[in-house]
Amino acid sequence: LLQLSAPLFMLGMMYREVKQALTNMERLFGLLDERQDVRDSAGAVALASARPAVRFREVRFGYDPRREILRGVDFDIPAGATVAVVGHSGSGKSTLARLLYRFYDVETGAIEIDGTDLRALSQSSLRGAIGIVPQDTVLFNDTIGYNIRYGRPEAGEAEVEAAARAAHIHDFIKGLPDGYDTPVGERGLKLSGGEKQRVAIARALLKNPSILIFDEATSALDSKSERAIQAELDRLAVGRTTLVIAHRLSTVMDADQILVMDAGRILERGTHAQLLALDGVYAQMWDLQLRQGDETTA
Ligand code: ADP
Ligand code: MG
Repeated sequence: LLQLSAPLFMLGMMYREVKQALTNMERLFGLLDERQDVRDSAGAVALASARPAVRFREVRFGYDPRREILRGVDFDIPAGATVAVVGHSGSGKSTLARLLYRFYDVETGAIEIDGTDLRALSQSSLRGAIGIVPQDTVLFNDTIGYNIRYGRPEAGEAEVEAAARAAHIHDFIKGLPDGYDTPVGERGLKLSGGEKQRVAIARALLKNPSILIFDEATSALDSKSERAIQAELDRLAVGRTTLVIAHRLSTVMDADQILVMDAGRILERGTHAQLLALDGVYAQMWDLQLRQGDETTA
């Protein structure tokens, strides 16, 4: 992956500027998104920055307006920095990722990229700039090669294979009777949760985006593969604006800032060391994971 990164990044930037608007991104979101009520505003502008800064400003949101899920969430991800989010299941972590990807629009408050409201950006440029490894990956009813290449349709075979290798799925694919041409998804080979997660990771590696979102990206992997792939994800995140929703606290220790979410609010924030010194909820979660051999989920 390392030897690929620099040329991929340059190519990625060129394609993002020139071709992103032309790629068929909508198809992906037609499949992944439950609702399609987010539209480009008149005069929507393209996100141009290669190192964007992300800002959540007092964001409030509910899937159902009668039930508020995010109750005023405020944080920054400076350009190239990594912010990690931990907290109990249901606290609103994945909702942050979905809003940044603009699956939904916020109710009050705003999300900004380089000071521009998401709602003023074209969706194709926004989504072209974001690589996301979601909690549950949806595969297209197409070949496994297509599913990886979707990250960057113009990528060559060698690049697709390098991304698959880095995501530790190349050998598995090579072992299939039709290799990269094997159909997957509902009408093809059923992949396990961990295999789908690796496809999503390969897709994100290949896409080489300026903003990364990992939503419990390695939660379906066994701890040995998780460590190996985590190293690839850490390398991918260097210099990119990254939102990591963490499943194990060991994966967030090095984040520039850690947010502890509870019931739609940020309860604590700081670096790992600051949060341990605070001796609050994060410190308790850390103790618990240490005692349980780092096998528990956050
Ligand atoms: P986390 O990722 O921290 O586990 P989520 O952001 O996925 O939490 O969910 C926060 C809350 O929003 C939960 O109560 C969940 O039930 C609710 N929720 C999530 N997705 C939807 C949806 N598509 N429609 C309605 N409610 C949802
Ligand atoms: Mg979640």
